[in-house]
Amino acid sequence: MTQNTTQTAQTATEHFVPDNLPTNLKHYIAGKFVDSADGGTFDILDPVTNQPYCTAASGQQADVDAATAAAKDAFANGPWPTMKPRERANVLYKIADAVVAQEDRLAEMETFDTGLPITQARGQARRAAENFRFFADLIVAQHDNAFNVPGSQMNYVKRKPIGVAGLITPWNTPFMLESWKLAPAIASGCTVVLKPAEFTPLSASLWAQIFEDAGLPEGVFNLVNGFGETAGDALVKHPDVPLISFTGESTTGQTIFRNCAEGLKGMSMELGGKSPAVVFDDADFDAAIDSTLFGVFSLNGERCTAGSRILVHRSIYDKFCERYAARAKNIVVGDPHDPDTQVGALVHPEHYDKVMSYVEMGKSEGKLLAGGGRPENLPAGQENGSYVAPTVFADVAPDARIFQEEIFGPVVAITPFDTDEEALELANNTKYGLAAYIWTNDLKRGHNFAQSVEAGMVWLNSHNVRDLRSPFGGVKASGLGHEGGYRSIDFYTDQQAVHITLGDVHTPKFGA
Ligand code: NAD
Repeated sequence: MTQNTTQTAQTATEHFVPDNLPTNLKHYIAGKFVDSADGGTFDILDPVTNQPYCTAASGQQADVDAATAAAKDAFANGPWPTMKPRERANVLYKIADAVVAQEDRLAEMETFDTGLPITQARGQARRAAENFRFFADLIVAQHDNAFNVPGSQMNYVKRKPIGVAGLITPWNTPFMLESWKLAPAIASGCTVVLKPAEFTPLSASLWAQIFEDAGLPEGVFNLVNGFGETAGDALVKHPDVPLISFTGESTTGQTIFRNCAEGLKGMSMELGGKSPAVVFDDADFDAAIDSTLFGVFSLNGERCTAGSRILVHRSIYDKFCERYAARAKNIVVGDPHDPDTQVGALVHPEHYDKVMSYVEMGKSEGKLLAGGGRPENLPAGQENGSYVAPTVFADVAPDARIFQEEIFGPVVAITPFDTDEEALELANNTKYGLAAYIWTNDLKRGHNFAQSVEAGMVWLNSHNVRDLRSPFGGVKASGLGHEGGYRSIDFYTDQQAVHITLGDVHTPKFGA
């Protein structure tokens, strides 16, 4: 066993609790913070102690009905959907400024609620703000097509916001992922009902005040807390919600897909992944080590685009595994609020149990090179936190469950390959197709591989660094539809074609 050697951050001696934490998170409906109609609540846990620190209103059908009614009214009767893009953009800029102004508070809350290391939570706030700025710019610069048929017809496209958008989000980087849907939905002129993940509703509670202060009209943004099977399900099935944008597990996506069918709803689905990082023998070895470590262990491994299967050319395989494992053992695991921490606590005991079950499974499916359990010497008072040592398995066969299934924690499977063809076959050998990372200095090989790999997004010689204009999304079981840039605006708007006759209409004279 190698877990004893995992580094733990010891500088934080007391568990950091942000000031003035709320004790009861409410829904936000029609401009007001409200309890559930039936008064129901559920507990929210802090991941480093797994003790409840607050309750949240538990949304049911009646709460979703009220939120949807408010959003529907704001869409039908409020100023937002018909406001000029520049006016909407000015509100979005104010939202972005407010997010940045609260960066420290937001990062503290996010870290406290999710267990994400504080240095990585800071980046999430900046990225969330950037999403609002980006879509503000996009709607102002937006133009639509016009098609002229000289002398006979002019056709133009009018873009209209669709209506009430239901936004359902997961618990990994919750605030940032909420911004990802909120920014384009609101920028497009839709009104929204957000159902944040039940494990991590804390940072979502900041949106209402941010939006109010920025001047977003009442009823445009509504939030219902609660579980997927109740609040989420009611939102998906609500007849007045024509659009569902969902990010979460592929199996949940399948359920939502089925439930949207009844209402023929528009759907955008960002689902799970088991992305390959392929390291060829001509790669920049040191850069590949740094990047493939970051690619799976950043955000506690709770990252949809994690490069959680590393495929390495056999000629450099032993050297790679040795160096990789040595670095993984050196990763600093500990109090998420400690700036030295690189891997914090997993979000929730239920998720911890799932990840740990894969760690145990891996011991018979691969060769354990690092981690393999809980790290020792955890900070005082956090011995019961959901901590998992960064875990590395080598020699993992392609039919192993740890090769095929999304673990969503700090666990990686490494597998050797001999030829480019075998690397491609291994890379494509899962039901997922979200991202792929390719490490080679051979231009031809890199492009050929990128074009053949079954992944919505490919990075050549890098981990996940994304320009907001580019499409985001997966293929196969990793998603349906792509978001990012104009694709997001396309999702939240209908494009109406208006055809104007300029010349004579040649109509067959029926019945003449
Ligand atoms: P999850 O599917 O369990 O839950 C996601 C959201 O869906 C939550 O808000 C939950 O309450 C809600 N939900 C659950 N059942 C529902 C139902 N029947 N009807 C309506 N809503 C329902 O996912 P999670 O565990 O919160 O998040 C982790 C997953 O998200 C991983 O699979 C990860 O890969 C994926 N993810 C994907 C992306 C991406 O962009 N592709 C980004 C982040 C996370």
